[in-house]
Amino acid sequence: MKFADRIQRLGTETAFAVSSEAAAWAAQGHKIYPFHLGDMNIPTPANVMEAAVKAMKDGKTGYCPNAGVPKLREILAADVGASRGVRYSMENVAVQPGGKPTIGKFFLSLLNPGDEVLYPSPGYPIYESQIEFLGGVPKPYRYLEGERTFTIDLEMLKRQITPRTRILVLNDLQNPTGAECSAAEREALAELVLKHDLYVLCDEAYFDIRYEGHSISFVSMPGIADRCIILYTFSKKFAMTGWRLGAAIGPKPIIDVIAKLNVNDESCSNHFIQYAAIEGLTGDPSGPQEILRVLKERRDLAVEMLNGIQGIRCLRPNATFYLYPNITGAMQRRGFSDYESFRRSLLQATGVSVCARIHFGRPLPGETDFYIRLAYSGIDASEIRAGLAEFKAFVEG
Ligand code: PLP
Repeated sequence: MKFADRIQRLGTETAFAVSSEAAAWAAQGHKIYPFHLGDMNIPTPANVMEAAVKAMKDGKTGYCPNAGVPKLREILAADVGASRGVRYSMENVAVQPGGKPTIGKFFLSLLNPGDEVLYPSPGYPIYESQIEFLGGVPKPYRYLEGERTFTIDLEMLKRQITPRTRILVLNDLQNPTGAECSAAEREALAELVLKHDLYVLCDEAYFDIRYEGHSISFVSMPGIADRCIILYTFSKKFAMTGWRLGAAIGPKPIIDVIAKLNVNDESCSNHFIQYAAIEGLTGDPSGPQEILRVLKERRDLAVEMLNGIQGIRCLRPNATFYLYPNITGAMQRRGFSDYESFRRSLLQATGVSVCARIHFGRPLPGETDFYIRLAYSGIDASEIRAGLAEFKAFVEG
């Protein structure tokens, strides 16, 4: 087979390779503690499931409009607008089969070959993959580990800007660090965006996965909503990862292009699931509240246990369901100098399966500390306790 040149540039989510490795290890009869994949083992709220079944029985099984069921678009516009302090109408919403499709469709709409894109590294690996696939030039910016949170290295980000820079990808409430922008970061970024005339992809996949306080969207900054597409997803808030439903939300001209891409790709998102989403947004809110309660309990347990391991330092993010501990000391202690041998040895000795910094974009020059990512969305508290006890014994010997 001779594939198109662009296929050489297509990346992937290497976390899925970690998953396959863990599954193969489990198939040999070994116990696994699945901290690697950001999937969820918490059920979708019952009212949401019932609404999907009802919609199916009511005959919502044919195609629906390409940009989504009008009622869902209206409700999303009102809901997302109210929580972000922006006025949206249904014309600002194009429903998608998940949050992820918004990434590729946003770049397809705005990126010409040679255009430069600022994106986080470590970060969700699909940004880097799609930028390169579509002929863009990846310009990573990093996060720095602080006392209480990770912060954006704004100096590095500024140094990456050139006259060819066209897009900023911002994943506030970030995967994998759990970082949340400070007001000062939002202000500095908004100034850069306006000064350099950038478009923004605001990946808000974890906007509602927070444990205290309220999320503040970058679109609420003056002048930003007009140049920003929000990636919205039902995956996390409603524990609907496998249902595949999300939306692109932003200025009508870009939404029109994205809706045209919908016509060319999937025609429309799953019809009856959109009625389940309406129920999720307008019905009994106790389901998402319970999801957050369960996640918070897991976070507190995991952070405490990780910080009890010699050579590991773990911040306590207020958002997302990921932890990104610094394991430099633990690796030194055990004599490891590379991620893969540490990760594999940990898996084989204890069954604890994790992702590492290398699964979140290419490492940047000058990185000296080592980090892993643990997701606690797909593992119960009792298993967290048992798995991290094994982890401690592995490191401390
Ligand atoms: N963006 C980020 C930062 C993510 O972590 C994820 C999933 O893990 C997504 C987008 C896409 O999620 P989905 O396609 O399930 O909505």
